[in-house]
Amino acid sequence: MENTNEFTNEMTLVFDSRPVNEGLARVAVASFCTQLNPTLEEVADLKTAVSEAVTNCIIHGYEGEVHKIELVCRLRDSELLVDVKDEGVGISDIKRAMEPLFTTKPEKDRSGMGFTFMEAFMDEVTVESCVGRGTTVRMKKIIRR
Ligand code: ATP
Ligand code: MG
Repeated sequence: MENTNEFTNEMTLVFDSRPVNEGLARVAVASFCTQLNPTLEEVADLKTAVSEAVTNCIIHGYEGEVHKIELVCRLRDSELLVDVKDEGVGISDIKRAMEPLFTTKPEKDRSGMGFTFMEAFMDEVTVESCVGRGTTVRMKKIIRR
């Protein structure tokens, strides 16, 4: 079969929105990116960003209910693209949600820094969301060898 895929490698992982699976997502993305020969710092950045995105699906997207989270990792040359997707409550004002210190759960000790960390540790972060349908966070990191 002819390969028309512009990506050189791709992985999808679907898991339950349980806090125990944050570790799984971190390890999966770290393990997937080793083929790009990243520095330890780059791996640490990726793991932090993925943790923040997965935590958001668990706490905000599904509000503690257990449903599926999808993690998709793709390689295109030296770029690693990571999508974290839930089918939860969605975000009504994405711009506001991404502002530093903005949180809708201050009573749960959230500091509103998740998106800020994702943006600091990745080269690009975009959010697609639909209220009542769910949220997809698309992140890109260039691994500079
Ligand atoms: P922290 O990440 O510092 O613990 P936080 O999760 O509230 O706090 P962010 O991660 O920056 O901060 O997210 C900001 C806000 O965006 C959240 O408070 C929530 O309202 C909304 N949000 C983020 N991710 C999702 C999601 N997957 N589904 C629904 N709402 C989300
Ligand atoms: Mg968060």
